[in-house]
Amino acid sequence: MGALALLDDERYVTVIPERFRFSDENPLTLEPFGRNKFGDLPPYVEDVITDVVGLTEAKWEALVDAGETYTVVGPFQYYSLAPLFRTFPDRVHRAGPAGWCPDCWGTLAACDRDGSVTGTVGTAYVCFCAGV
Ligand SMILES: [Zn+2]
Repeated sequence: MGALALLDDERYVTVIPERFRFSDENPLTLEPFGRNKFGDLPPYVEDVITDVVGLTEAKWEALVDAGETYTVVGPFQYYSLAPLFRTFPDRVHRAGPAGWCPDCWGTLAACDRDGSVTGTVGTAYVCFCAGV
């Protein structure tokens, strides 16, 4: 279960913690991240798989098919999203990549710059463009 904050209009927003485990719930599918393939994972988690864990997309897919992701990413091991959080200040002064959502730049991670979404300035949340 992800952290939830109740909005004024009673729409729920999913806060993105600064670190996560692959046994945590994927807000897009409500299954653990470790059971989902690329395309079903938020891009910010896909980036951890390729950039931090060092797996190719094909290798990850094979591990999911075999049910063996946790032999590589350990279900209780925490992975940091600090590199993602460090990109948030850049978004204030720069236009995002053309064709991508202006709130999350295609990462599905939006930053609550004024606290109006989550109640806390600087909190990351699953962008509304994800449609969850
Ligand atoms: Zn978005």
